[in-house]
Amino acid sequence: MLDQIIELIEQFDTICIYRHILPDGDAKGSQFGMKSWIKNKWPDKKVVAIGKDTPNSFFPDCDQESIDFSKALAIICDTSNRERIDGEGWDQCAKVIKIDHHPVVDSYGDLNIVDDTTCAACEVIAQMFMDHHETLTLETATYLYCGLLTDSQKFSIPTVSERSLKAASYLVSFGVDIQKCNLKMFSINLKEYGFENYLRSKVIYKDSLAYIVVNKADYEKYGITYEKAKEKVNVMANVDEIESYVLYTEQPEGNYAASFRSKRTVLNDIAAHFGGGGHNFASGAKNLTLEDIQKANQELIDRMHESQK
Ligand code: AMP
Repeated sequence: MLDQIIELIEQFDTICIYRHILPDGDAKGSQFGMKSWIKNKWPDKKVVAIGKDTPNSFFPDCDQESIDFSKALAIICDTSNRERIDGEGWDQCAKVIKIDHHPVVDSYGDLNIVDDTTCAACEVIAQMFMDHHETLTLETATYLYCGLLTDSQKFSIPTVSERSLKAASYLVSFGVDIQKCNLKMFSINLKEYGFENYLRSKVIYKDSLAYIVVNKADYEKYGITYEKAKEKVNVMANVDEIESYVLYTEQPEGNYAASFRSKRTVLNDIAAHFGGGGHNFASGAKNLTLEDIQKANQELIDRMHESQK
């Protein structure tokens, strides 16, 4: 598979690398991992990262260069469907490569490299590099390791496999500082710590579902951005009595974004009922009303009852 990517890269002088909107560690890790690998292997090529910057990130900002998309190759990382691609121009590019680990809903690439048995787009990329015996720079390996670390939730979710750990070990062999990556990806400041404690005080329990509805005024009071607030679903993780949990975050423009999570209950089809999608046990949807929230909660409770039968 890497051979097909290399063949395409060699045909273009400009390569544009994309990720999904509201990028997480895997979206940025895969984007900047690919960028740094290409830049190192083909120093004369113009390689640009495209997307809206998010503050306080360990990863670099995106590039602001003018590009003739018609002469460029697009590589789109960690993005299951075209509506979620962050940034313009990808659909004007001469060729498009999709690299992803979500269940397939939209094969928008000319080349689609998708493995939904992996826990991260960074794992898909690391496995290709590993199988191809690529030697990586510390920078490339670190970006990919950080993405793998975040999307695998520190190597703890059901999609983490022997292959995931082999990919991690391969990346670490280039000198990745494991502790530094953990601190960069998971450290929070006191403001965020206070916000997390506030969220914990707002949890509502219904059977083995837990959920929090957080309003704009709540996160703004703590000086937390919408993007950051939305990431906090894991304040409900790893509790024995909680099988599924949802964070409903009020969007700046109104209505709520849902982040659905579970230990072992499939819920991406429930996310799809509300116009969203994602992985079996981690999915999302946008623009839910308060009425939708009640409906989604009920669907989740019903699903957990069904699974217990
Ligand atoms: P989130 O809860 O936003 O972190 O998203 C969890 C997973 O669901 C990610 O893998 C996203 O790609 C996916 N996802 C989130 N929102 C949507 C959406 N509106 N449509 C499709 N997939 C989504």
